[in-house]
Amino acid sequence: MTEQLEQFRMLIEGKAVDAISGRTFESENPFTGQPWALIPDGGPEDVDAAVQAARGALDGEWGTMTGFGRARLMRLLGDLITVNADRLARLEVNDSGKLYREMIGQLNGLGGWYQYYAGLADKLEGRQIPSPNPNYLVYTRREPVGVVAAITPWNSPLLLMTWKLAPALAAGCTVVIKPSEHAPASTLGFAELIEQAGFPPGVVNVVTGSSRETGAALAGHPGVDKVAFTGSTATGRAVAHAAAENLNPVTLELGGKSPQVVFADADLAAAANGVVAGVFAATGQTCMAGSRLVVHADVHDELVRLVAERASRIKLGDPNDPETEMGPVANGPQYRKVLGYLETAKAEGATVAYGGVADSGLGGYFVQPTVLTGVGPASTVVREEVFGPVLSAYTFTTEDEAVKLANDPPYGLAGSVWTNDVRRAHRVAARIKAGTVWINAYRVVAPSVPFGGYKSSGLGRENGVDAVNAYTENKSVWVELSGQTRDPFTLG
Ligand code: NAD
Repeated sequence: MTEQLEQFRMLIEGKAVDAISGRTFESENPFTGQPWALIPDGGPEDVDAAVQAARGALDGEWGTMTGFGRARLMRLLGDLITVNADRLARLEVNDSGKLYREMIGQLNGLGGWYQYYAGLADKLEGRQIPSPNPNYLVYTRREPVGVVAAITPWNSPLLLMTWKLAPALAAGCTVVIKPSEHAPASTLGFAELIEQAGFPPGVVNVVTGSSRETGAALAGHPGVDKVAFTGSTATGRAVAHAAAENLNPVTLELGGKSPQVVFADADLAAAANGVVAGVFAATGQTCMAGSRLVVHADVHDELVRLVAERASRIKLGDPNDPETEMGPVANGPQYRKVLGYLETAKAEGATVAYGGVADSGLGGYFVQPTVLTGVGPASTVVREEVFGPVLSAYTFTTEDEAVKLANDPPYGLAGSVWTNDVRRAHRVAARIKAGTVWINAYRVVAPSVPFGGYKSSGLGRENGVDAVNAYTENKSVWVELSGQTRDPFTLG
């Protein structure tokens, strides 16, 4: 069996390597339920080697390369991603069951992130700051924070890795990436492009491991200077604790329970389409899934009918088939978690407007797109992130109530407002406590637009101009201009 599996290697100090222990683990294809790839099972000793390589690269050629030089390499990398988009998309499909038609679109756009941040790499300007004492010239320098640990989850591994890697490279950092044990192959496939683009050895390193200890070893490694993490809120907390031991800064992109708030004056056909896109695309396995439908009581029945009708027509199947609209849940533990939430919802009195069960006829980990009604703000399925194709619909009657319900759960990653009243749209968008609010739209992201969460959804922002600053230290330099000897017992 092992001979038939595609074999991958880690990237440490510019070399494709096996785990020091020689151990491997299998990655399972959630559509076939069969192992398809053999992955190095790296541990703390491999993390040590990668962090050491990243430190060495900072002290070498990369450390003295200008932003112009970094930008050139990043542009090459962006182009290489586009050339290899098909292979990378297929690796993601095999590993996570995501649709080829979504992943090829994502991979075709991924190079854009490197092009965007390449455009910033040669524009990291300090400032000349007026000093109250005329004897001093003061300026600031944006310097790389150092070695970055980038820890990623199994949904969209390359996109979420890129949100860390592109600004980190622009800033001049070096990076150790640890992808999820559930979907490691695409990141290892991507690593092959790093060498082709011509990055000096050690600038980008990738370590994989079957145990969560590998990520923990990286998050708390004393040789790391910053940790960037995407994943669940519980793991994010553990990562923040580990980073705090080293007094390291963190960027955390965590879970969500995002509301789609639909007013009675909304275009219901458009809203239904947006709701379907928000919660059933990617089988609901996106941090920004619009998993709560907070809808005006007057249009609840009609909107639920429209959404359930569209859900009933969603074509489940082989993620590689261009006709397929929803693939399987990405792995066994997640599949069981989603089905567990459906049981809890039913036990708590939810009504199933559509779906509500596994779709076992297809093999693999399929769950039917599910629309639940008869739930409320206290329901488990409304408060907790399911990370699957499950929509919970409940009602409001006033704008204040809509805002209160939208903001009720502990999360604050994203949300939407559906209305044809332009004043209300902006009023409500301002009151939703979330890092991203779409008006009459859902699930749009871009390299230039900040993304991140309020409350338990995270810390800091990825994407946009400012994200690069999160990978820099801001150094102040004072230059004495008079040449006179100062009184050593006064300040300034
Ligand atoms: P996870 O939190 O279990 O794991 C994420 C990564 O952290 C994996 O690489 C894992 O190996 C690693 N890890 C595990 N324990 C660790 C530790 N103690 N220290 C350091 N690293 C550790 O998440 P997952 O199951 O891979 O992904 C699904 C979850 O991620 C969902 O809950 C989802 O909401 C969240 N998510 C959030 C976003 C976002 O942008 N906000 C994006 C994608 C996924």
